[in-house]
Amino acid sequence: MTTKSVFSICGMCTVRCPIMANVENGRIALLQGNPHVPAMKGSVCPRGAAGIALINDRERPQTPMIREGERGEGKWRKVSWEEAFDYVANRLNDIRATHGAKAIALSDRGGPFRDMRRAFLRAIGTPNYCNHDSSCARNVQHSALSLTGMGRKAVSYDLKNARHVVLQFRNIFESVNVQEVNNLMDAMEKGCKLTVIDIRANISATKATRFMQIRPGADYAFNLAVIHELIHKRLYDDRFVKRYMEGFKELECFVKPYTPEWAEAETGITATQLRQFVQELSEAKPAVI
Ligand code: SF4
Repeated sequence: MTTKSVFSICGMCTVRCPIMANVENGRIALLQGNPHVPAMKGSVCPRGAAGIALINDRERPQTPMIREGERGEGKWRKVSWEEAFDYVANRLNDIRATHGAKAIALSDRGGPFRDMRRAFLRAIGTPNYCNHDSSCARNVQHSALSLTGMGRKAVSYDLKNARHVVLQFRNIFESVNVQEVNNLMDAMEKGCKLTVIDIRANISATKATRFMQIRPGADYAFNLAVIHELIHKRLYDDRFVKRYMEGFKELECFVKPYTPEWAEAETGITATQLRQFVQELSEAKPAVI
């Protein structure tokens, strides 16, 4: 029997975890996390491990197929890769000749290979590229840009060394990002607090130090009261504010009416709970995510 280890990247979801495949006689016997990547700890999530089933699924289309007949008729013809590439190239050329290159757009999930696709688009003369990041996580993107000058992908969260992690409508323990989960669990073993704010008691909530079940749609009210409390009690980092922030006075005036008592009526979270939460955030600063 011949055995070897093949290193790759899991394609079962968009996280793209580094993996290692144990291959026996040319077939994958086991998929695991790349043991040389510390945060993977040699593990993959169940979906990643199911990659073997996908590879070996005999009903999975194994070749490109070109539709024959009308859309919805379900008639497909198996073709070689050469024919498929020619088909797509001819169609793109037709569109370019008839409507111009800018009539072509490409959308994908982003990830590590997007530069190749963008280079391809530039080569055929269109700038029209968008991906998942064009709509998802826009707020994080803009916050990262305004705070650090870099996009969100250039900033990583040091979950492993955090002292308080707040998951507001983020369900890390069920979103199977293996490295994030491992890092957060390591941090919690070292005493990191986990606060979960959500409308339902998900798995992350069951592991949380504090779970606040908020009324649906009331998160903005909650956040206003958190800012109010941070400023009112002077629990923020004054040096940071003086050095980097513009419009702090305006913010202070704006949040004045939004007390924890006001938020309690909106969110269902008591003023006492909110105050304790803010106090703990302040005690853990700056290692708060
Ligand atoms: S989270 Fe799971 S499915 Fe996604 S890339 Fe990692 S191992 Fe694969």
